[in-house]
Amino acid sequence: MGQVATIFALSSAPGRAGVAVLRISGPAAGMVLDEMASPRPEPRRAALRRLRDPVSGGTLDQALVLWFPAPSSFTGEDVAELHVHGGRAVVQAVLGAIGPIPGCRPAEPGEFARRAFENGKLDLTMAEGLADLIDAETEAQRKQALRQADGALATLYDGWRSSLVEALALVEAAIDFSDEGDVGTATFAHAVPIVRDLEAAITRHLSDGNRGEILREGFHVVLAGPPNVGKSSLLNALARREAAIVSEEAGTTRDVIEVRLDLEGLPIVISDTAGIREAAGRIEQEGIRRTLARSRAADLILWLMDATAPDPHLPAELADMADRTLWVSNKVDLREGGWPATLPDDMVAVSARTGQGMDELSRRLAAIARERISPGEHPSLTQERHRQNLVACQEALRDFLEGSPWRLELRAEDLRVAANALGRLTGRIDPEQVLDQIFGRFCIGK
Ligand code: GDP
Repeated sequence: MGQVATIFALSSAPGRAGVAVLRISGPAAGMVLDEMASPRPEPRRAALRRLRDPVSGGTLDQALVLWFPAPSSFTGEDVAELHVHGGRAVVQAVLGAIGPIPGCRPAEPGEFARRAFENGKLDLTMAEGLADLIDAETEAQRKQALRQADGALATLYDGWRSSLVEALALVEAAIDFSDEGDVGTATFAHAVPIVRDLEAAITRHLSDGNRGEILREGFHVVLAGPPNVGKSSLLNALARREAAIVSEEAGTTRDVIEVRLDLEGLPIVISDTAGIREAAGRIEQEGIRRTLARSRAADLILWLMDATAPDPHLPAELADMADRTLWVSNKVDLREGGWPATLPDDMVAVSARTGQGMDELSRRLAAIARERISPGEHPSLTQERHRQNLVACQEALRDFLEGSPWRLELRAEDLRVAANALGRLTGRIDPEQVLDQIFGRFCIGK
């Protein structure tokens, strides 16, 4: 094996900007500074330097230069940062000058974070938190991601793993003492409450209503109701009021429009679907089937009714979704007698046309979402990957608790299986492909 490559990349967003940050990590990082920005600044102190082209000696830019010698750096390797003027030509010229320096090559996506992980600077949940922090669109997502990047889940899972290792040590001691009757039994008995507490803690952590996962991905709301009640109009009205990101998903019958809203700091994804109508042609039926499937998977259904002819019932296929439904009576501007005097608790009246009632609708939506997803006192798991490993751990702990205490070897194996599941969670043990997949989702420069 040759020497570790020194990697470099533009770490700030591409395009024109006031400042662009280039990051260089690896054994040749110091040499890059010597060649291009000598003298090397004091560690962790910013210094203004003229950046030189090492070949021609010409000036490339005036830059703020930082030097982080290993191991006190993001990646744990020698790292240099060049804060240059953020013009495309400047960035191109500086990257082009670093390229030919021996030992240097452009970084792959996620490679800086991967090196930080491999050098023990981050565990896997922290690396995922970092990626989520960069993707966070709302305040609540930012808080959750920051907490995870700071190591909230890593600390929790590492603590659990230590308890498991302690329980495993007791069971292994019990195996050693098994010839001595009572001593072995007593030692094993000490392991049982540790495992029982751990199993209870994991069960609590798992039964959080998918809070962290929903917050990470957005609270999904489906707009549904009969045709012509004003679903598209309402979606447009919401998107215009809130700074919304609109995306269209191609469907065969009719496009599903998705709007991402930031409601009081919470990520809400609203989709408008084909109208549900009882007697429909074949093509429409396909649209209806999709609507129903989407509605069933939603965190909340906004069921629209026409205020002039309200008909508050869900189709039979959605009957069991009633407790996840907010009824919206639209077109109140057309209603004889004007605004309804009283409304049930789970109903809001609006006019998508005049904007009446829209504040109340936004407020209600945010309140419902907040209750389901706002971060609790304890950190939440945020990805299916976490859930799978935790369930595997929980199952192994249950095998331990339900298994025969006389089969000590098997009980020790249960604990090893459980500890491995936690190890995969934090990345202590992980096959290369899993790591490739996780870090491959990062962009270049991270
Ligand atoms: P969808 O089929 O449920 O998506 O319904 P649309 O949004 O296409 O609306 C159907 C018709 O109702 C359109 O002509 C809209 O302009 C009208 N409409 C929607 N909302 C309102 C409203 O609040 N008041 C009035 N007067 N008309 C509305």
